[in-house]
Amino acid sequence: MAGITAFVYHQDYLKYYFGPTHPFKPVREKYTLDLLKELRVFNEKAKYYEPEPANEEDLMLVHTKKYVDFVKKMSDVGSGYLDYGDTPATKNIYEGSCSVVGGSLCAADLIMTGKVSHAFNPGGGLHHATENNAAGFCVFNDVAIVARYLQRNYGLKKIAIVDIDGHHGDGTQKIFYRDPILKISLHRYDGHFYPGTGSTEEIGEEDGEGYSINIPLPARTHDEAYLFAFNEIVIPSIRRYKPELILNQFGVDSHYQDPLVGLSLTTKTYEEISSTLHNLAHEISNGKFLILGGGGYNPVNVSRCWAVMFLNVSGAIPQSSPKYKKLLDDVKLPKESKILEKVMETVDLIRKTNINARKK
Ligand SMILES: [Zn+2]
Ligand SMILES: [Zn+2]
Repeated sequence: MAGITAFVYHQDYLKYYFGPTHPFKPVREKYTLDLLKELRVFNEKAKYYEPEPANEEDLMLVHTKKYVDFVKKMSDVGSGYLDYGDTPATKNIYEGSCSVVGGSLCAADLIMTGKVSHAFNPGGGLHHATENNAAGFCVFNDVAIVARYLQRNYGLKKIAIVDIDGHHGDGTQKIFYRDPILKISLHRYDGHFYPGTGSTEEIGEEDGEGYSINIPLPARTHDEAYLFAFNEIVIPSIRRYKPELILNQFGVDSHYQDPLVGLSLTTKTYEEISSTLHNLAHEISNGKFLILGGGGYNPVNVSRCWAVMFLNVSGAIPQSSPKYKKLLDDVKLPKESKILEKVMETVDLIRKTNINARKK
């Protein structure tokens, strides 16, 4: 559909770096830019933007001063951890963090000022961080920061956050647990798998009751089962909520080749999710569609999955072209029938527990 899609990237994203042996590798974002350039994607439909870094005031839309100061201090020291052992305090991690958060704010500004309809910040999507803690490779929670920024600077009231990362969006859920911002998270869940939260019973509290929708999935969940849950829960709940903007955390560690998560998705799911949310944004939210990165621990694979999403949203090269088709997975993965049954039961349970997850 008409409208420009922005790709927001700065070379300082490479400073969001936890060392050579750490699974989080910011080079995947650079690979995505390189791949899109190689595919000659940047044209009248897709544009590349470089963001300014976020400032302390932006960070404090969500985080406490005490925590921001702690990250600054640890970043100068350049050793130790920002949490209990997942998120190292490397030299300049503060600058790297401000750069990736700035990318999410830049993406929001581009959309809200009408320069573009859709925007993607591959450095964002750091959904595990909370007000006063780093967690799971996430220093500052740009998903929550950008939602508050949209409320403060542009007066938005209804933002739908759809989190498709293989892990539960626990930080974002915690920050907005009492807020009527719709949060939907699809993730691997068995009560132990990191971060251990994200069951169907977590639905929010007070003004936020019913605005946390969790879709817990078993290991090896495949395209068919995942898309069943997505179509049965995500689409009706967005139609019911009528957001002014759709915010999509697009972590791709749910892909079958990811080394950390153990879900079994292929690019088929990423194509369908991006085109469905893109269409819903045009139908309901005046086209306003903001996409952030997230997990993904096989850098070459991540860049391919993100390129598929970006091309679906921007339409910058035709999907019939051989160079688009070359990006897609061409595999037949084993499908355990029990998984679909289990996901169907979960969908029923979510509808019973949460009024906002029901069809009208
Ligand atoms: Zn569009
Ligand atoms: Zn993840």
